[in-house]
Amino acid sequence: MSGRNSPVAAYLGLGGNLGDPAAAMATALRRLDAHAAITVAAVSSLYRTPPWGKTDQPDFLNAVARLDTHLAPRALLEALLAVERGLDRVRGERWGPRPIDLDILLHGTATVAEPGLSVPHPRMLERAFVLLPLAEIAPDLRVAGAAIAAHAARVDASGVVRLPGGGDWWRKKQG
Ligand code: ADP
Ligand code: MG
Repeated sequence: MSGRNSPVAAYLGLGGNLGDPAAAMATALRRLDAHAAITVAAVSSLYRTPPWGKTDQPDFLNAVARLDTHLAPRALLEALLAVERGLDRVRGERWGPRPIDLDILLHGTATVAEPGLSVPHPRMLERAFVLLPLAEIAPDLRVAGAAIAAHAARVDASGVVRLPGGGDWWRKKQG
C-alpha cells in the first residue's frame, strides 16, 4: 500500500469460461495483490453457472473480491485492463471468448458515469453470479437503498452453484 490516506474498499467481479478460468482468476488476484496500491482483502467462493443459450461451451466460473486500494476508479480500471491483457496474451484465442473478465462493481461510495467507466456497475443488481458471491463477503453492504443480502434474495439464482472450498482457492491455484 502506498500513500498515507485510508484505502477505499472496491468490489471486483471476476469471471471466465475459456481454458482454466479458475487458474486465470487466481493469477489475476495474485497480480492485483502484488500491486503496490492494491490489497486483496476478501475473496468469495467460486461459483459455477452453466451456460445458457449457446450450451456447447464450458461453464462460467465467477467470484467477487474486495480490494482495499489507493487507486481512483479510473486508475483501478487501468490496472484491471492490464491484468486482463496479460492473461489474454498468455492464454487467449485471438477471436475467441476471453479467459478472464474483471469488472469494477463498486468503488467505495463513488459514482462514475464516463465514457468507458460506469460505477456502480450498471448490471450488478440483476446478476445472480455477482450478487451471490458478493453477499458472501459483504451481506450488509448497502447499494441502491438495500443490503446486498436483500438484493441477492430477490434475484433468480437457479443454476448458480457455490463450489466447496471457501475463499482461499486463489492462493493455492497455479496459473
Ligand atoms: P463486460 O464486462 O460487460 O462483459 P467487457 O469486459 O468486454 O464487457 O467491457 C470492457 C470495457 O467495459 C472496458 O474497456 C471498460 O472501459 C468498460 N467498463 C465500463 N464500466 C466498467 C466497470 N465498472 N468495470 C470494468 N469495465 C468497465
Ligand atoms: Mg468487463
